[in-house]
Amino acid sequence: MTRYRARQVGQDLQKTASDLARIAARPQDACTVPWGVCPEHGNTLTASGGTTRCTAAGCGRAWGYNRDTAPCAEPATHRLVDAEGTEALICDGHAIDARNRLVGGRIEPVPDR
Ligand SMILES: [Zn+2]
Ligand SMILES: [Zn+2]
Repeated sequence: MTRYRARQVGQDLQKTASDLARIAARPQDACTVPWGVCPEHGNTLTASGGTTRCTAAGCGRAWGYNRDTAPCAEPATHRLVDAEGTEALICDGHAIDARNRLVGGRIEPVPDR
């Protein structure tokens, strides 16, 4: 029992450390949304057993981690301004997702920086 618990903790630490590494590795101009999407299809991901797949027909993208719960690291290509005027920089995939859900506010492309 004790041994089992110690191993669990070790796995949790390893997972947290790799999550941290991924967050630290995000470029400065990355999307600011704290969960991942498919860069082409948006909110179409399904994750199980540490692997994430896009469920859109013909996509076939897969990632070797729980992308749906990891901060998005795609390049920011759009500016989202919500109904209250709060701005966020988001990627192509999140722009697709936001367009489907946004009530009020707007999404505009960010010129190349
Ligand atoms: Zn996809
Ligand atoms: Zn994004």
